[in-house]
Amino acid sequence: MAEGKVATYIPGLAKANPDWFGICLVTANGTAYEVGDSRQPFTIQSISKPFVYGLALEDQGRQHVLSKVGTEPTGDAFNSISLEPGTGRPRNPMINAGAIATTSLIAGKTGPARLRRLLEMFGRYAGRDLALDDEIYQSENETGHRNRAIGHMLRNFDILTTDPIPSVDLYFQQCSVSVTAYDLGVMAATLANGGTNPITGKQAIRGEYVESVLSVMGSCGMYDYAGEWMYTIGMPAKSGVAGGIIAVLPGQLGIAVYSPPLDARGNSVRGIRVCDALSRHCDLHLLNRPSPGESAIRLKFTGAELNSNRIRTPEESQALHHDGGQIQVYQLQGNLHFASTEAVVHDVIANVDQIRHLILDFKKVLTLNESACRLFYEVLNKLSRLDRVVLFTHAEHLPLLRRYMKVKLGERYTELFRSLQENDLALEWCENRVIEAALPSRRDARSATPAQYELFENFTPAEIDVISSLLQRRTYQQSETIINAGDEANELFFLARGGVSVFVSVDSVSRKRLATFTGGMVFGEMAVIDRAPRSAMIVADTEVTCDVMSLGDFDRLGSTHPGIKIKLLENLSLCLCRRLRTVNRKLAVFD
Ligand code: GLN
Repeated sequence: MAEGKVATYIPGLAKANPDWFGICLVTANGTAYEVGDSRQPFTIQSISKPFVYGLALEDQGRQHVLSKVGTEPTGDAFNSISLEPGTGRPRNPMINAGAIATTSLIAGKTGPARLRRLLEMFGRYAGRDLALDDEIYQSENETGHRNRAIGHMLRNFDILTTDPIPSVDLYFQQCSVSVTAYDLGVMAATLANGGTNPITGKQAIRGEYVESVLSVMGSCGMYDYAGEWMYTIGMPAKSGVAGGIIAVLPGQLGIAVYSPPLDARGNSVRGIRVCDALSRHCDLHLLNRPSPGESAIRLKFTGAELNSNRIRTPEESQALHHDGGQIQVYQLQGNLHFASTEAVVHDVIANVDQIRHLILDFKKVLTLNESACRLFYEVLNKLSRLDRVVLFTHAEHLPLLRRYMKVKLGERYTELFRSLQENDLALEWCENRVIEAALPSRRDARSATPAQYELFENFTPAEIDVISSLLQRRTYQQSETIINAGDEANELFFLARGGVSVFVSVDSVSRKRLATFTGGMVFGEMAVIDRAPRSAMIVADTEVTCDVMSLGDFDRLGSTHPGIKIKLLENLSLCLCRRLRTVNRKLAVFD
C-alpha cells in the first residue's frame, strides 16, 4: 500500500523513508508487543499535545486551563486559525492554537527550565530519557510562520499575556522530541494505566487528570477526522505529522503506529488502517466493552460454617454452631467500582436481618475507587445505626479506603472502622462476642485442673491421681517458643493456664496461625501417634503453665495401667476427630 504523502511543510520531515512501518502494543500491565520499525526514531509532533495538556492541568489547575483553552472539537484542520467568538479561546488543546496556548501554561522561570520540565514529563511516560531532534526543531523554527501567526493572534486576544514567541518556540521544541513507536506504545499504555508507567511503576501524571487528557484525545485528537475515528475505531487517539499515531483503551492497553505517509487531514494512512484493523480484530471499541462478568463476591460463609483457628471447648463450639450464622464473611474480589460494589451492598442489605457481624475481606480486591469507598461508607453507617458491627480485613493495600473512612467518619473513625489484618483474627473477635452472649456464665477457659483436661474426660479420681503423678509442671514466658518445627517429639503437653498458638511459616517473614489453645487442651498430641518430628511451631501467647508427659511414660502406661491408656487413647481419638472435622468443614467451604 503506497497511499499518502510524507509531510514536507516542515522540510526536515520530508527526509523520512515512506516505507518505515512500526507497530507497538503495550498492555496496561506492561507487556509490549512490537513489530517492524518499532525502534526507528521520529519526532513526536502533535502527539505531544495531550501530554503537555496534562502537565498544564497539573501546573495550573483545571479551572485556569479551561479559561484559556476550550474542549470543543472544531471539525477544522490541525493548523486552522480559529478561536471561539467572544472569549477568543482556542476551541481545544489538540489544534495548534490550543496547543500553543497550553504550552504557554507550563510552569518554569526560563525557557530552558520549562523545556527541561517538558522533557522530564515525557521521560516519565516513556520510561527513559528523551531528547530533541535538533534538525527537525531548527527546520520547523525556520518555517513555522503560520504557528507564529497563531501565537500573535493568541496574544491579541489576551490568551497569551506576554511575548508569544517564547511559547511558540517551546511548542516547536515539544514537537521535535524524538521517540520510537515503542516509546509511544509505553506512553499510551501509561495513559491506559491511570497515569502510572506500567513498566517502571512511576507516576507520569496525577490520576485525576488522565480522564481529561483522554477526553480531549477522544473528541479532538484526530482533528476533522475525530468523529469518524470514534465511530469506527472507538478509542481516544492522537496523530502527528511525522507519521505517528497513538490510541488508548483505558484500563487495557495503548497502541502506537509509525508510518510517515499522511492522508489529506495529516493523519498517517497506515496508522489509521492498523488501528482500525486492531480495533476490529481485538474488539477494542470503547463503547462496546464486555461486562466485567465475574461477581465482586468471591465467596460467602458464616461463622457457623467456618471458625477461627482458636480451638474452642465443646460447649463453645456448640454455641458457634448454633449462633455463628450471625457472623457473615464476604470475600470480595476484582476491581471495586460503583457497579461491582453496588452488587455487594445489595446483597448485604438484603441479608441484614441475619447479620450481626459483617466481615468484608479485601484480600483478592485489585483496585477500589472513590465511589466504591462511598458505598462501603454508607453500608458501615447504616449497619452501625442498626447496631451491627462491620470489620474490614486485608485492606492494607487499599489506603484510599482508610483515608476515605477517616475523612467521612471523623471522630467516630476509631470506633467504627475496624480493620484487621486477617480473617482469622476478625472471626475470633466476632466469635468471642457471640460466645459471650450465648454462654454468659461459662467456665473461665484460661485455666484448668488435671480433672478438667480434655484428654482425662471420664477418668475416675483414682485414675486422675495416677496420671497426675506422671505430669511434670513447666512454665513459659509470654512469646517464648515451646516447640520448634523440626524438633524431635518426645513430650505431650496439657495446658493448665494461659494460651498457646500453633504457627507454620508461610515464607521467610510471615507465618500463619493454625490454632490457638486455651486451658485444659492438649497439644503436641500428633507425635504420640506417629512419632514424627514436630511439624509446626508453638508459641506462648501469654504466660503459660503446662503439665508435660514424656512419651516414655505414656508408653509405659500400657503395661502398668492398660485401662488408663485405653481411655487416654480413646479421648485422643475423639480430640483428633473433632480437629479433623473442623479442617474438613473448612475445605468444603473453600471448594
Ligand atoms: N509541529 C507541527 C505543527 O505545528 C505539529 C502538527 C501536527 O503534528 N499535526 O505544524
